[in-house]
Amino acid sequence: MQVDDHAEELASALGVDKEEVTRDLENLLQYSVPIEEAKQSIRRKHGGGSGGGGATPTSKNIADITPEDGSVTVTATVLTVGTRSIRYQGKDQTIREGELADESGKLSYTAWTDFGFEAGDTVTIGNANVREWDGRPELNLGESSSVAVASESIATDYEVGGDSTLLALEPGDRGRNVEVRVLEVEERTIDGRDGKTDILSGVLADETARLPFTDWTPRAEVTEGANLRIEDVYIREFRGVPSVNLSEFTTVSELTDPVEVRDAAPKMRIDEAVDAGGMFDVELVGNVIAVRDGSGLIERCPECGRVVQNGQCRSHGNVDGEDDLRVKAILDDGTDTVTVVLDAEETSEVYGGGIDDAKEAARDAMDKEVVADDIREKLVGLEHRVRGNLSVDEYGANLDASEFEETDDDPAERARDVLSELSAVDSSAADEEVAE
Ligand SMILES: [Zn+2]
Repeated sequence: MQVDDHAEELASALGVDKEEVTRDLENLLQYSVPIEEAKQSIRRKHGGGSGGGGATPTSKNIADITPEDGSVTVTATVLTVGTRSIRYQGKDQTIREGELADESGKLSYTAWTDFGFEAGDTVTIGNANVREWDGRPELNLGESSSVAVASESIATDYEVGGDSTLLALEPGDRGRNVEVRVLEVEERTIDGRDGKTDILSGVLADETARLPFTDWTPRAEVTEGANLRIEDVYIREFRGVPSVNLSEFTTVSELTDPVEVRDAAPKMRIDEAVDAGGMFDVELVGNVIAVRDGSGLIERCPECGRVVQNGQCRSHGNVDGEDDLRVKAILDDGTDTVTVVLDAEETSEVYGGGIDDAKEAARDAMDKEVVADDIREKLVGLEHRVRGNLSVDEYGANLDASEFEETDDDPAERARDVLSELSAVDSSAADEEVAE
């Protein structure tokens, strides 16, 4: 049978215009959909049932799709198409992922075969499986799904194409494009799924935020200071913050104009930052209420860098520890607390001396704890401004400080400010009384 004959048969069976059926059929065949599946998809479009037994997927608005639906037919505009290689049941497979939208809403999809659609296309997807991911419905397009270019495009309020600022990126995002400056980059060798693999990792910035990144196939263009347009990245969560991932399918091009970069970190309340599950580069202000044990002069395992207690490393047993300085200070702003971790250099600044000074003090007192005690006296009870990366995990809320300083706010001055505000309120109230 020729396409025309199939169209004729379908059109008369469904009682619809033959021209429309021919157009839909040709579209489906263009996407290499087998003829029987193509006909089925057109029957479904016109409510004609599957004809082949089994449940008939229903045509739905995106907002009405729930994980209980099983399989559905939707007509939607493709917002993003990201390409990624994953290992599934021992085999490398190229998948496409992104988002679809109609007038009612948007949702994520994963396509296990290449249906050839691009961002901006309006398509009718037949027999897509609905699964639940992270509490939300997601479409799974497999061998038995069909995709056809829809005859009319669908209006949507969502942006098509995947361009994004760093601040707007969320874990789970696929097929995104960013314009950024590379602030930091280092080469690392990791134990990947194919053995030792070289990767690049570092920090990207634009005018909205800074985020960590990983380039899984190191590119020559990704150098410190480079201004880049990076297309088709995917976002994963790394220690509570979104991390930008460059895959083998990602493309990188150099920008002629430098990218504006944000210098300041967003200021947040501690409870907000902790509730966010972690923040890359955040500023917090609070009082140091305690300096925890394990601060001051400590010893680290020369093998793994873990803190050694009584000459014992948890992984390496008896080791000859190396001296180091650090502070773990509890910062409280009245809403919640975090543990601020200072490295040797920052600790030296607070302590007013280096490792040798600390060792000398410990020797004189015949007690290492004098160093931590000294630091306690200098910090506890004072308000500090801290900037750094906050991670929230089974070890609690820890902030690796890149900046740590006492706020110059004089408490007496703050009290006077509050008083003068109060009296301003008083006098304006008095003015109102006079005016009456
Ligand atoms: Zn160790």
